[in-house]
Amino acid sequence: MTGSQPTPLFERITLIGTGLIGSSLARVVRRDGLAGHITVTARSQATLDTMTDLGLADAATLDAAEAARNADLVVLCTPLGAYEGIARTIAPALKPGAIVSDVGSCKNVMFTDVAPHLPSGVHMVPAHPVAGTEHSGPEAGFAELFEGRWCILTPGPDSNEDAVARVAELWRRCAMDVEIMTADHHDQVLAITSHLPHLIAYSIVGTANDLEDDLKKEVFKFSASGFRDFTRIAASDPVMWRDIFLKNSDAVLDVLGRFTEDLTSLQRAIRRGEGDKLEDHFTRTRAIRRGVLDAKQE
Ligand code: NAP
Repeated sequence: MTGSQPTPLFERITLIGTGLIGSSLARVVRRDGLAGHITVTARSQATLDTMTDLGLADAATLDAAEAARNADLVVLCTPLGAYEGIARTIAPALKPGAIVSDVGSCKNVMFTDVAPHLPSGVHMVPAHPVAGTEHSGPEAGFAELFEGRWCILTPGPDSNEDAVARVAELWRRCAMDVEIMTADHHDQVLAITSHLPHLIAYSIVGTANDLEDDLKKEVFKFSASGFRDFTRIAASDPVMWRDIFLKNSDAVLDVLGRFTEDLTSLQRAIRRGEGDKLEDHFTRTRAIRRGVLDAKQE
């Protein structure tokens, strides 16, 4: 059950970007009274109007600096490529003691693109709620999105402890389990658990699409769960994923190198008819499924 304490965690929260993740957060904040006041900003007036119509915004403006003024907590909920421009824009408007956090899928980007622009006295607490769908936009959000999932915080060595504790509490109130690690570690782990699988999905669906017409029709017609799951993943937002691969390129390229070596070894086993090798590999991977189920991360 989500908490519903009478005192808000923050007096004024500003959400910059209110798509799937930002609007889902707004829904929990609104439902459980986690903030006294919610200000939202986005690129388009249409998104702001939707947030207002949904009753998820006390104030809405296209001016990010205006939105950030007087906020106790500012949460960046945009694609990663927008972070630097937003940080430059909001920096002069941030009040001393304000917390700047985010929900981005890569975490080093907060240290490279955001931190250098923040005035001293503003506390940065990078966060990644590891929960999502392939849908985008404010209407795709729902308050239960975060329930039972992990939220990873990646404070730096100089981060303000009180600010970290308050952001951790926000995500706990969204029914998430909070884990703290370094941004480097986060980006390496997510490269294998999330970024590489998405790259494989984008690649395999592209390969199927490039087949000659007759074959392609059959692929789509008979796509059973395996290929169908890839098409779902490959339907994820193109801009968001472009930015993830650009901002986490080192970790992704590292894991991609290992993956292609392993793939080549399976390819060789198939070519040589080495059934034992294939069976042994598939037996080991089957056990991993059990670990994922035990961790309740299906
Ligand atoms: P989304 O549904 O596409 O929403 C993105 C929002 O950002 C929109 O409201 C958009 O405004 C706004 N925006 C884009 N550029 C902006 C700018 N320059 N200034 C102000 N607002 C801007 O995206 P999402 O799925 O919520 O993802 C947002 C972040 O969450 C990304 O960094 C992603 O890595 C992270 N994340 C995503 C998932 C997932 O599964 N989707 C999971 C965990 C974390 P308009 O609507 O007006 O265009």
